[in-house]
Amino acid sequence: MDSWHVRVKERGKDELYRARIVIGADGVETMVGRWAGLDTRVPARDMESCAQYVLQGINFNPDAIYLQFSNAIAPGGYAWIFPKAVGVANVGLGLVALKTNGRNAREYLDAWIARRFPNAARTGYTVGGVIVHTTIKQTYADGVMIAGGCGAYDQSTLGGRDRQRDEGGPAGRPRRGSRDLRRRHERAALVDVS
Ligand SMILES: Cc1cc2nc3c(=O)[nH]c(=O)nc-3n(C[C@H](O)[C@H](O)[C@H](O)COP(=O)(O)OP(=O)(O)OC[C@H]3O[C@@H](n4cnc5c(N)ncnc54)[C@H](O)[C@@H]3O)c2cc1C
Repeated sequence: MDSWHVRVKERGKDELYRARIVIGADGVETMVGRWAGLDTRVPARDMESCAQYVLQGINFNPDAIYLQFSNAIAPGGYAWIFPKAVGVANVGLGLVALKTNGRNAREYLDAWIARRFPNAARTGYTVGGVIVHTTIKQTYADGVMIAGGCGAYDQSTLGGRDRQRDEGGPAGRPRRGSRDLRRRHERAALVDVS
């Protein structure tokens, strides 16, 4: 057999798809990689905890991005200001939790903003993990690839999407002797989390 079966639950309905290649794009907590037998575990030292607000009514140069490296502000990471419009920016930080004094990313961010932009209006909030090291050694298996935040490490700038490493692997061509892997994957379900 040359294809995978992927069970998708969408709006309460189960659908079964067949695909020669499955690309897992399910984010930093990827399950698709694990279902395919890839080791996608990431040690805490290689993972940044991030928090970000959209701030309005702040004073900065909208033609510049700001990156601030300081262990007092974001231990093991950095803080950023990415302009969205005049007076409006994504303002956030990422840190390595193992290097902090017990406070979480949001607490570090609140403290920084209180000093830097005490009168800003907060109109959005995002939090999450970002892999910052090439911990995951292999991002493909027979007929399966993982991409984006789940497959590689992020190089965050400008609020854009992830740039993943170029992983030229034999995704489209099932290898011999891969029956176990295939069986594991056939049992897996891709479940809509929305
Ligand atoms: C606060 C913060 C700020 C950031 N700032 C930047 C930045 O400035 N620049 C930058 O380049 N990157 C930044 N990043 C990182 C960036 O968000 C990620 O690199 C990017 O979102 C990865 O995209 P992705 O599509 O791989 O994963 P995600 O954006 O995580 O998308 C995965 C999707 O898969 C869905 N999903 C998961 N499991 C299932 C399932 N079983 N069934 C169905 N759907 C599923 C999820 O709901 C989600 O919609 C930031 C991250 C954070 C947390």
